Amino acid sequence: MNVLVNAGPWLAVPPPGYGGIENVVATLVPALRERGVRVVLATVGTSTLEADEHITVFPEGQFAHLQKPYNQVMGLAHAHQTRLAGELRRRDDIDLVHDHLEVVGPAVLSALGGPPVLHTLHWDLRKHPEFYSAFPPSIAVNGVSHSQLARAPQALREAALGAVHLATPLADEDIRAERGEHLVVMGRVCGLKGQHIAARVCQKLGLPLVLAGPVSGLNSPAELDAVAQDPGHPLHGHPDVRYHLERVTPYLDGDLIRWIGSVGGAERDGLYASARASLFPIQWDEPGGTAIVEALALGVPPVGLRRGCLPEIIEHGRTGFLADTEEELAEWVLRVDELDPEECRREARRRFSPAVMAERYLELYERARRGREKS
Ligand code: UDP
Repeated sequence: MNVLVNAGPWLAVPPPGYGGIENVVATLVPALRERGVRVVLATVGTSTLEADEHITVFPEGQFAHLQKPYNQVMGLAHAHQTRLAGELRRRDDIDLVHDHLEVVGPAVLSALGGPPVLHTLHWDLRKHPEFYSAFPPSIAVNGVSHSQLARAPQALREAALGAVHLATPLADEDIRAERGEHLVVMGRVCGLKGQHIAARVCQKLGLPLVLAGPVSGLNSPAELDAVAQDPGHPLHGHPDVRYHLERVTPYLDGDLIRWIGSVGGAERDGLYASARASLFPIQWDEPGGTAIVEALALGVPPVGLRRGCLPEIIEHGRTGFLADTEEELAEWVLRVDELDPEECRREARRRFSPAVMAERYLELYERARRGREKS
């Protein structure tokens, strides 16, 4: 089978730092190729993931532009997808497109009428209600958790082929770092991810906390400072920047509670793998939770609030802890050493491995192709 996997124009695959969807694509593609699938990867020029072919428009990821107003950035996703559509029009050897580009992906591909498409919904499905409640029927879709699909508009929920949980490569011996004292939040800094709650809890408990992740595409404290000091900067009043400055920065003391910006590669692996626990004080219904399955694979117990996909991924008391309130979260954080890291790794091997995800997608590819034959 020849599958065109569309990772979109935002970040390289794998991403140099932050990038949930791109990390999942980087996990899926090798597992598909091991199973005999030929993969054409639509991505950006800096992607280093091996595939049988690459298609690119942009030499590098366009993620930083996503924070600009829509009328300045809508051309980016469309330029990428138009190039992909041109490729599909020109050739007839693609058996299926596995698309990961939000809204623009299915919109363009449905108008094209080319090979069968499976579009993976990575997002909060209460976004884009106009589009999601009239989703193009020619496009097969899947979600990344059952709780995500449960919140989708009815028509989309009924059309979806099911939920495929995210996966991550299993940590090898090299990244089984010795356990340190710090707790970690690995993710975009924004109100939805709730870094301020992690900071408040750790400050109260006197536990070291490392916050890693970009804020509105800014990757370091120096970049954030520059924006904070420049009222004319387009990101100056951005909600995520304001969230950081008003609700997270006050906890940062450079010692117990630190924000280190975005981390990638070996630095990220070492920091994550050596954490005592990974915190998810989420303030939204997390749809898929790449960082949660990564924590399990590294043997770092996740501790979070019981929302979104967390109860599907974490088994309370065995592979992590789930709390209903901030106070409870603090209580469970104090008990993380009761959890067995090996149990977390076992769970990742059993449920969130590249092989499990690839096998599920191969089933859905077949269903998407059969669905097309019927219609
Ligand atoms: N991440 C990273 N470096 C950082 C922060 C995050 O590599 O400094 C990665 C993290 O490991 C995960 C992804 O970015 O793979 C975030 O994905 P997730 O699905 O958890 O969050 P979202 O896509 O909702 O932002």
